[in-house]
Amino acid sequence: MFDFHIHLARLPHPKQLTQQLCNENYDFIAVACEPWEWEEVAQLKKEFSTEIKPFKAAYGIHPMLAWQANDKMFAELRDYLEKDKIAMVGEAGIDKRYPGYEDGTQDRIFLAQAELALELKRDLQIHCVGDYMRVLKLLTEAGFPQDVSQSLDAGHLHVLSRLQEAPRPIFHRFGGDTNFVKKSLPFGALYSLHEESFRKKSTAAAIPHIPQERVFFETDADESFLDPKELVDSLENRLESVRLAYAKCRE
Ligand SMILES: [Zn+2]
Repeated sequence: MFDFHIHLARLPHPKQLTQQLCNENYDFIAVACEPWEWEEVAQLKKEFSTEIKPFKAAYGIHPMLAWQANDKMFAELRDYLEKDKIAMVGEAGIDKRYPGYEDGTQDRIFLAQAELALELKRDLQIHCVGDYMRVLKLLTEAGFPQDVSQSLDAGHLHVLSRLQEAPRPIFHRFGGDTNFVKKSLPFGALYSLHEESFRKKSTAAAIPHIPQERVFFETDADESFLDPKELVDSLENRLESVRLAYAKCRE
C-alpha cells in the first residue's frame, strides 16, 4: 500500500500512528502545509526514517495560507527542503474557496513554490480547486519543461523517458477533465487519485486517459476520531476502495 498524500501531523497520535503504519508496511508521503506541520513532519522523519525505508515528506504553503505567506516563511520552507534532500515541494496551488484566488496572491505564492521545485529539482504536490488550466499556465511561467513540438504518440514516448526525473507536477486529489489530462501529460505529470476523484463525471471520464504508470492513490487523511490501530485499518480500506474505483473505471 502506498498513500501518495496523507497529513500525518494533523491526525491524532502521529507518532503511534506512524509506528503502526511502518509495522503494517503502509507506505506514504507525509504532506505538510504550513510551518507548525513542517516541524512535526520533520520530527517524524527523524524518528522513523531508515536506510531501507526512507521517510518521504513534502513541505509547502497551502493556498489557504497564501495571504499569510512572507519572506520569512519562504526562507524557513527552503531550509526544510534543503535539509531533506528527497522531500517534495507542496502541497501548493490555488483554491477558489480561500482568499487571494481572484487578486493573484495565490498565483504568486504558487509560482514561487513551483520555481523552488525547479531550482531544487523536486517533485511538486499540487492542490487545485478551481481553474486547472490556470495551474498549467503558472507551471509554464515558472519554466516547467514540456514537449509541445511532438505529436501525441511521439510525445508519449518522450514523456515516458522523463518519468523518473524530478521535478514533476503531481496533481493531488485529481479533479481535472480529459482536456486537462491531454494538456498536462507532456509536463511529465503524475496524478494522485482520491475517493472524490470519481465523484465528478468529467474527472471519472478523464481518468482512463492517464497512462497507468502515472496513476497513484491517496487518502488525503487529515482528521479522525479513531485510535492509531483502527485508523490504519480505515486508511487501508479507503486506499483499497480508491484502487477498486480505478480498476472499475478502466473496465
Ligand atoms: Zn492535502
